[in-house]
Amino acid sequence: MILVLLLDFNNLRKVDTSKILMELFKDIKNIDDPGKQPSYIPELTHVDPNKFGVHISTIENFHSGVGDFQERFSIQSIAKVLALSLAYRMQGEKIWERIGVEPSGTPFNSLVQLEADKGIPRNPFINAGALVISDLLISSLKNPKEEFLAFVRDAANNPTIDYSSKIAESEKTAGFRNVALCNFIKALGNIQNDPNEVLDFYFHLCSIEMSCEELSQLFLFLANNGMKLNEEKEVLTANQCKRVNALMQTCGFYDESGEFAFKVGLPGKSGVGGGIIAVHPNQYAIAVWSPKLNPKGNSFKGMQFLEAFTTKTHSSIF
Ligand code: GLN
Repeated sequence: MILVLLLDFNNLRKVDTSKILMELFKDIKNIDDPGKQPSYIPELTHVDPNKFGVHISTIENFHSGVGDFQERFSIQSIAKVLALSLAYRMQGEKIWERIGVEPSGTPFNSLVQLEADKGIPRNPFINAGALVISDLLISSLKNPKEEFLAFVRDAANNPTIDYSSKIAESEKTAGFRNVALCNFIKALGNIQNDPNEVLDFYFHLCSIEMSCEELSQLFLFLANNGMKLNEEKEVLTANQCKRVNALMQTCGFYDESGEFAFKVGLPGKSGVGGGIIAVHPNQYAIAVWSPKLNPKGNSFKGMQFLEAFTTKTHSSIF
């Protein structure tokens, strides 16, 4: 049965994937979108809410996109996967002494579990966890912002990827929950550096701008056992890659991670800029962008698109 589904997908990849992307894109573009853009990052409300793009990249070097797939947007929490990857690559298993690997079942910006958990965030993808990862990176990098960006550019083979200082500043002016989270974790002893420096680094990593095309190509390393495609270059070991994918599967959508597994069935990560990246190990990475978010902070149309895509192509991991 598994073999039949894989063969099925290989066929689709060669013959029909572009057509399927186009058909689903047309269907979903016109559905009523009850979502909202996040007002706590004022700059994000200036983005055209009707933007919609999709791009798939496969490990066999097939690439196809529809709509606004070449336009850059704020990747926000999708960057948490890249921050985790760099920290994991540099420091190995000891990062798990300061961060858990369990789904939180709470919103991405929640403070409620931290006190009971003594400042150890449940996982690296909620904001609390990404702040601790930021702290780990600041402790081990000489020029954290420059070196993190260099890591992303290198993994993407794209020297033009950059932070948006406008978006980072915008979040700094209104990101009061993150300020609270960072100071609270500091008080509980799990942030070692100056909270202002940690927040500045965190707001910058969230402000990185990339297109769906760039994202799906970059995230292929997670579909390729941690190796950059077409190069013998390791971003993560195969075991680290397996674990990052497992975390995306169980924690990538906060208190909607179960729903994403249930409907889409792929490891993935969302961002409040409206982007979602999803990875099928050993097959492909697909990125979707539509700025209006559902109440859990995940792109409404992005979720719909990916559900329709994995259903139609029989290409979820389940
Ligand atoms: N920068 C955003 C925040 O900290 C990222 C959240 C997200 O994309 N889910 O709130």
